[in-house]
Amino acid sequence: MLADLGTDARPLAGGHSLIPMMKLRLASPAHLIDLGGIAALKGIRADGADIVIGAMTTQHEMIGDAGLAARLPILKETALLIADPQVRYVGTIGGNLANGDPGNDLPAVMLCLGAAYQVAGKGGARRIAARDFYEGAYMTALEPGEMLIAVRIPVPPQGHGACYEKLKRKVGDYATAAAAVVLTLSGGRVATCSIGLTNVAETPLWAPAAAAAVIGSDLGAAAVKQAAAAAEAIAQPASDNRGPAAYRKKMAGVMVARALARARARAG
Ligand SMILES: Cc1cc2nc3c(=O)[nH]c(=O)nc-3n(C[C@H](O)[C@H](O)[C@H](O)COP(=O)(O)OP(=O)(O)OC[C@H]3O[C@@H](n4cnc5c(N)ncnc54)[C@H](O)[C@@H]3O)c2cc1C
Repeated sequence: MLADLGTDARPLAGGHSLIPMMKLRLASPAHLIDLGGIAALKGIRADGADIVIGAMTTQHEMIGDAGLAARLPILKETALLIADPQVRYVGTIGGNLANGDPGNDLPAVMLCLGAAYQVAGKGGARRIAARDFYEGAYMTALEPGEMLIAVRIPVPPQGHGACYEKLKRKVGDYATAAAAVVLTLSGGRVATCSIGLTNVAETPLWAPAAAAAVIGSDLGAAAVKQAAAAAEAIAQPASDNRGPAAYRKKMAGVMVARALARARARAG
């Protein structure tokens, strides 16, 4: 239906981004295609070294899944920081990732984890790396007629430490700035590290230079300061009601420093 109706049609998942956009007249699709009846789009399963989450899995279901909490605790931590329970009962992982809203929390975590998005359209299925998916605010690599089916996430090694640190004005708010960190330690030093940033640019950001600043270090003050500075250097937030651009840029660095400290405490 999506391919046949073309760009006049939009998939409807939980509706918690799309319906507000329609009420504000920022979107006025001629057709809504309700994904709610497609059972195959739901569910969380392990597939070898990966976890695969169906696009219509709700944020609430992610929080309640014991296997996910054990193997990818950062997803539960992040989902708990999205909005409030009412939103999370119906808001889906697919809608959160496909919307392309830089304020959404899950995309930066997917960049950090090196996830791949499984998409499908009339022409067949393909995979897009999360790190290649976001092209601008509300602009993604999805072609017209394509939709997100599932997310495939490689599980970091046992003993990894992870953290999603989010600064927000109040419960239920989008991030002023937020950072996702996944790291492993070896002999007290950082062996691997990946960092993602939320809501400090038109897209979620992957921050390899910030991660490189701490790899090989024991996360001493100088290395953490360098990582925070590298994150601030790529942040290009707008001034808005969450604060002036300079403040939000600074907070990107602060969130990285806090997330690194908590990820280290959880590793091992
Ligand atoms: C008050 C409030 C506060 C919120 N706070 C936060 C927050 O702090 N952090 C956060 O991350 N989010 C927040 N959200 C957004 C919430 O997480 C949304 O539920 C989510 O962004 C969209 O998921 P959805 O299932 O509701 O998608 P929908 O609203 O149904 O769809 C969103 C967009 O994605 C498209 N889409 C949906 N599913 C697919 C698919 N499978 N393939 C291709 N395109 C698809 C739709 O066509 C639409 O364009 C908030 C929402 C509200 C109402």
